[in-house]
Amino acid sequence: MIIYDTTLRDGNQAFAVNFSVEDKLKIARKLDELGVHYIEGGWPNPTNPSELEFFKRVKLEGLSARIAAFGMTKRPRSKPEEDQNLNHLLEAEPDCITIFGKTWKLHVARVLETTPEENLAMIGGSIEYIKAHGYEVIYDAEHFFDGYKDDPSYALETLRVAFESGAEQIVLCDTRGASLPTEVFKATEEVVRKFPRAVVGIHAHNDKGLATANSLFALMAGARHVQGTINGIGERCGNADLIEVLGNAELSLGIRLGIDLSALSKVSSYVYEIAGLTPNDRQPFVGKCAFAHKGGVHGHAVLKCPEAYEFVDPSILGGSRFILVSSQAGRANLLAKAKEFGYDLERDDPRLARILERVKEMEGEGYHFENADATLDLVLARSLGIDPRYFEIEGWRVIVSGGKGGVSSESTVKLRVDGEELLTASEGNGPVNAFDLALRKALGSKYRELSKVNLVGYRVREIDVEHGTAAKVRVHIEFEADGRRWSTIGVSTNILEASKEALEDGYLYYLYRIRDPKRSGG
Ligand SMILES: [Zn+2]
Repeated sequence: MIIYDTTLRDGNQAFAVNFSVEDKLKIARKLDELGVHYIEGGWPNPTNPSELEFFKRVKLEGLSARIAAFGMTKRPRSKPEEDQNLNHLLEAEPDCITIFGKTWKLHVARVLETTPEENLAMIGGSIEYIKAHGYEVIYDAEHFFDGYKDDPSYALETLRVAFESGAEQIVLCDTRGASLPTEVFKATEEVVRKFPRAVVGIHAHNDKGLATANSLFALMAGARHVQGTINGIGERCGNADLIEVLGNAELSLGIRLGIDLSALSKVSSYVYEIAGLTPNDRQPFVGKCAFAHKGGVHGHAVLKCPEAYEFVDPSILGGSRFILVSSQAGRANLLAKAKEFGYDLERDDPRLARILERVKEMEGEGYHFENADATLDLVLARSLGIDPRYFEIEGWRVIVSGGKGGVSSESTVKLRVDGEELLTASEGNGPVNAFDLALRKALGSKYRELSKVNLVGYRVREIDVEHGTAAKVRVHIEFEADGRRWSTIGVSTNILEASKEALEDGYLYYLYRIRDPKRSGG
């Protein structure tokens, strides 16, 4: 099976995604490591000079994957050698050129505003021109399935012209994402039968949530080339998610891909990170919750017999089982969590009952540990007599004042570190920020490595809304340093106190666990 990635082209057309040349090179390296066969690098055209820069620089990387440039057929009634778009593709000097052309008469008449015959001439002429320059050509049949539904013989005729003009691979595109898996299967099967010497491919969009299913049905019908993007990023609802497609191809269809599936989670989070998108916790195969077990019964059973609730061993996908501690959880979940953190506890350890009691008590006050592993780890450490006391906040104050000139916030924090008392003050963009800056200033003078810690998420939620402004709030903070992330929680009727708790735990956790990874629990 040929894996053709279009994260850098179709993915880059996604809402809120905008890769720089540097970003694209980074992703290309990762895709190459993963072992994809083709990387579609972009659409080199006169209006976007940075595309050409990418093609120039990627050549120096010495990647094994073939780099494809993407572009459209020549304009109606023009000579290919005079077509700027085609010439730009040649100028990019990629390893291969992917040309898309029209299959659907609606597009021919209303978008291109030309005749079906001229469209065929555009497809043939463009491919022959590119081929004459010695390039491998892949033909993307845009709107293939819509066109096939409308006029099957014309749709097949466009493919015949593309193939006979020299396209080695013909890719059937569900550009609107409108087709059903059964339709994709039927049409693909016919194309495979009619073009036994061609490699037939699939390019599916997810407008109906069927991109992965459609890709798999095409493979089952005999397609041997599949296109998609990492995490399914792409225009509108996105493309087929290669993570899902590759996972399924190997684990559900039994196709030997020759790639390391355990690299999928890393590639997925790498692309989220570079795209500046929040990872989807519920993403199949690689999401944070893909192997998370919450219910006490599930948690207990999955430890005894993993296949009872997991379709595959998470480690095959580079993931790990994740037991959530919640009010539904019992001793088994907590025990599994303690083991995950590295604490040596047995099921009948009397300390376990104490910890469970403490966790339930905190949950009663409004704490949620599902997304606050770092706070839970610290609760366990304290209950087990390991007191990670790198610093203590002795007192703090925040003053917010407003007037005609606007609102200002300043904070002072009094800390004790190694028997020494430190007092710092800072202004901030708001009370929590002022407090955080004062705290970091004081801590930074003792623990310089704390400057590596970034706050990457801050969320506040009211717990008992019926109390109005006197309601309790839950503050969740997510931290990041050295590529690792951790989350904490604080609960109080005072938003500053709740934030203080979550910040304090976050920095403590860094000093306890991240700064020195060798250090583990008791
Ligand atoms: Zn597309």
